[in-house]
Amino acid sequence: MDAKELTQTLIGYNTVSPRSNVEVMEFLTETLESIDCEVEQVEYRDPAGVLKVNLIGRKGRNTDKRGLALLGHIDTVPAIGWSMNPFEARIADGKMYGRGSCDMKGSVACMIEVASRYADSELNAPLYVVITADEEVGYFGASAVVEKSQMFKKHGFPQYGVVGEPTELHAVYAHKGAVRFTVTAHGRAAHSSTGEGDNANLKLIPFLAEMREIYQELTSDTQYYNAEFTPPFTDWNITISDGECAANITSPLSVCSINYRPMPGDDAQVWIDRARESAERHELIFDLYINAPPVRTSPDAEIIQTALKITGETTPQTVAYSTDATVFAQHMETVIIGPGSIRQAHTVDEWMALDQFPQGASIFNQFVERLCVG
Ligand SMILES: [Zn+2]
Repeated sequence: MDAKELTQTLIGYNTVSPRSNVEVMEFLTETLESIDCEVEQVEYRDPAGVLKVNLIGRKGRNTDKRGLALLGHIDTVPAIGWSMNPFEARIADGKMYGRGSCDMKGSVACMIEVASRYADSELNAPLYVVITADEEVGYFGASAVVEKSQMFKKHGFPQYGVVGEPTELHAVYAHKGAVRFTVTAHGRAAHSSTGEGDNANLKLIPFLAEMREIYQELTSDTQYYNAEFTPPFTDWNITISDGECAANITSPLSVCSINYRPMPGDDAQVWIDRARESAERHELIFDLYINAPPVRTSPDAEIIQTALKITGETTPQTVAYSTDATVFAQHMETVIIGPGSIRQAHTVDEWMALDQFPQGASIFNQFVERLCVG
């Protein structure tokens, strides 16, 4: 099994988060079975009712130890404005281009390549490869896996988890969480000259003023800072949409979206409640649709110390973005480490350096050697 070739195949499947991923997961089921994994498909319906599949491949059946999970996602962010076909892998200048090459089909392919190197009899603790859906839009796939997997019910959760998000192969022990909500105002469209409309944007304005106060508190009051992170404060990022309503129409709908990244030790609920209370006081509709906690594994934990021995680093890092670890770290000791750079993730003409494939596989292989073989 060659990670580079497998990545090229995976890029050929359009797996932008809202689409059904059944086809690529059928292919990956066959792939995992072909390397002698026991495979479980964990299905669920996403919030839009679309059928999604997660996969768990398991090797090392002759042991009752809890073992190690290599954890990745197959969905990607959308691909708009590319200079090439985002769903056709292209190799040039020592890079592989294609949506998901870096975040994180390349990493998933490295995990499968590593799993293909081992026979059941060589593993003293089980090795899992877990591939989820909907990581990019709210960790729904990971949540379905921890709630519904029969394999994990039977054997227990793995002791250790390696979330292979692009960290340029640095060991990451903590990241910020992800809270997202929308606040919606309804009005009535009319020609603005008639005086008969009801402008939804006007209803949002007093709420927005209060959200700006929260933004200023969270980003300027150092009692909310956490020096473990760069930047040391959260975002409270406010976006507004009225669907580009024309200037001579009273806007019938105005939606504010806020993205908040709580850090370990923060009381996220305080800020969520304050926003909800403000929305309700102004008779707006509040909808919290992502509430993912931050992740922090102790730097002294065995998985972090193992990661440091493998990378040769002396101290682990933090990152400001969130991953499926928000779900998995509640059930296993988790490190975030994987090939590729976050600077190329989610970009137009996304790529991964070709040397990251053997390096990523080598790092994952060393986790298996230390935690499943040794
Ligand atoms: Zn990712």
